[in-house]
Amino acid sequence: MPTIAPVVLGADLPVRLSDGTTVAYANLDYAATAPCLAAAADAVNELLPWYASVHRGAGAASRRCTLAYEQSRQTIADFLDTRPDDHVIFTRNTTDAMNLLARALPPHATVVTWAGEHHANLLPWPRVHCLPVPADLPAVVSGLTRALADLGSAGPVLVAVTGASNVTGEVWPIAELAEVAHRHGARIAVDAAQLAPHRPVSMTAAGIDYLALSGHKLYAPFGAGVLAGRADWLDDAAPYLAGGGATRHVGDEAAEVQWQSGPARHEAGTPNLLGAVALAAACATLATSPAVLAHHEQDLLTRLRDGLAALPQVAELRTFDVDHDRVGIVSFAVADQRAADVAYRLAADHGIGVRDGLFCAHPLARTLLADAAERLDRPTDRYAVRASIGIGTTAEHIDRLLRGLREIVTSPA
Ligand code: PLP
Repeated sequence: MPTIAPVVLGADLPVRLSDGTTVAYANLDYAATAPCLAAAADAVNELLPWYASVHRGAGAASRRCTLAYEQSRQTIADFLDTRPDDHVIFTRNTTDAMNLLARALPPHATVVTWAGEHHANLLPWPRVHCLPVPADLPAVVSGLTRALADLGSAGPVLVAVTGASNVTGEVWPIAELAEVAHRHGARIAVDAAQLAPHRPVSMTAAGIDYLALSGHKLYAPFGAGVLAGRADWLDDAAPYLAGGGATRHVGDEAAEVQWQSGPARHEAGTPNLLGAVALAAACATLATSPAVLAHHEQDLLTRLRDGLAALPQVAELRTFDVDHDRVGIVSFAVADQRAADVAYRLAADHGIGVRDGLFCAHPLARTLLADAAERLDRPTDRYAVRASIGIGTTAEHIDRLLRGLREIVTSPA
């Protein structure tokens, strides 16, 4: 397996096991929050001595911080291959970005999405037409085509879809869906929270009108995310937050306000400079070696899925075919076991961090758990276990997880 150049912090954290011994932590929970890249931490440390106000000062430190903030915006625009007129707006995370977009929809807009979306891409929409969790890949395209034809020219339509599922890791056919959306005069917004950390994304080539992502899933610290996309809806909308920085002019009466256009319109208040700089550094780092990173991840994903497939008490959750393209995320049901017990024993006895639950995608996880239980033909929990991998994951982590699971399925709690 090739060694990969980017380094994540905390790769060898010591954790104490239930038997009193200590092992290096095996973090298999990247889909929740990825560890911070050393390059992102370095970028923050370099700027910290210059800590000063962004867009609000004439001094050297302020000018440097303003430049760093705007350069970060450009780095992220390059990373996403945006169109020249697109805006890149800093948000707190994907949830914040999707809520911003929901508030920027033109009047009477309808959002078409799928019941299987993460709640961040399901709940913010004011007027939503929700398609069922698809039975297979062809149903995704045919379902959308039918829905858009039915909606006709009733008003603006936005198709909101995930780039890669946080439950199954399955990659959705974004370029094809964008083509269908555009053919019907609709736009498409992609929840790239799980796609962007794993795959290069070109908004221009794929025809993505809007894209949201979270820095903390992309190897940067918490608190910075992005909404990128077409300027017109964003410039026509009321500011997401009202306050300083979003205004061009305020008259003597507070109601007499001229708002900025461009990203500043939706970035009122002093911005999260360090978050932006860290996120940009992470994007720049990922962009240097996408093929090596993808190879590393796919090798480990195959090792993990092959190992899980060899356990008859375990069934992975999936929407599409077993061979469908995936990023490094696998959720699974374990026969006769509570997911919380499995996750606890992996942590306590093996020093492994996984997640259990419904992963903020309740309708999808419930549907896929029912399907997994049917394949297992055994009782399963109402919750699943999820293992997710990335830059700092090693073959030893995967083997330890499989060893731990083997022990758990052969000696239930
Ligand atoms: N979308 C997907 C696919 C996710 O996996 C997540 C987080 O788990 C989100 C959106 C929400 O991200 P955040 O909590 O950073 O806003």
